[in-house]
Amino acid sequence: MRRRVERDCWCGARTARLVANVRVPDGAQFPLVRCEGCKVYALFPQPDDATLAHYYSNEYYGNSRKKFIGPVAKFVGFFQGGRARHVAREVNRHRRCEEPRLLDVGCGNGGFLMQMQQRGFAVEGTEWTADSARRIPASAGIPVHVGDLLTLDLPEKSFDAITLWHVFEHLRQPDKTLEKIHRLLKPGGLLFLAMPNHESWQAQRFGTNWFHLDPPRHLFGFGVKSLSALLRLRKFQLLAASTFSFEQNPYGYLQSVLNSRGWPRDRAYGVLKGTSRDAFATKLMDLMRVALLVPAALLYAVAEWRAGRGGTVTMVARKRG
Ligand SMILES: [Zn+2]
Repeated sequence: MRRRVERDCWCGARTARLVANVRVPDGAQFPLVRCEGCKVYALFPQPDDATLAHYYSNEYYGNSRKKFIGPVAKFVGFFQGGRARHVAREVNRHRRCEEPRLLDVGCGNGGFLMQMQQRGFAVEGTEWTADSARRIPASAGIPVHVGDLLTLDLPEKSFDAITLWHVFEHLRQPDKTLEKIHRLLKPGGLLFLAMPNHESWQAQRFGTNWFHLDPPRHLFGFGVKSLSALLRLRKFQLLAASTFSFEQNPYGYLQSVLNSRGWPRDRAYGVLKGTSRDAFATKLMDLMRVALLVPAALLYAVAEWRAGRGGTVTMVARKRG
């Protein structure tokens, strides 16, 4: 029987089970627990600020506006376009207003917001640090609020839509953040969330080797059920849920295979991000392994998605009340 620990959860449960001690390449370990109530996964105890700052080095974001090397950045840009189309369609369908106001929490290099600007949205973003906020070109004229959403002073009931793309799992207090988002949205405003699916086939199959576990930066791990439960608790009505992401899921499988074969955790991903300091031959071998695994990764991603267990959960929800 797995060890039980005391942990107060937003769902009311006061205990969790230790799932694993997740080891990162430098040897540090982070305990991963699962709530006995809502089944959300969490690093517990949470790493302190200094530890997190160490693992969010500049390498995590990439040194310039782009987070990835050329072809991969194009790939990511293509999917940002898809996200922008999806959000514009949903907001126009549900809100029907001139120049809808949109806030992207953790807006990164601003690529998504610039696409929304072109679609007639009035956009704003948030980033944790002034350094990361500087990756957005000043010429775009996008207001970026620096700091944690919980401490930012933003006008209530002022946004038609708020988006968090692979940000929610990084937050120290996702439940409190949802309360704040609820206050910031206009009545009936929309919330878009995407994050790794801890109930996916790939998460269950690869365990601590799963790429999207990304310790210790991902502090929480949700599945469709645990995320819907939290959204309901925080007065949101679920409009749509999907577990498919062509951008995230095949690579999640592929890198997890490499991790589980004993190569250093997420090393090939470092090559794709352009942050690898490995020898050229090592990088080339990693890229060849990636290429060889692509067909299997695509098949796996389709199969798990068809079973409703894809590697990413994307949800659209509407503010109630
Ligand atoms: Zn819980």
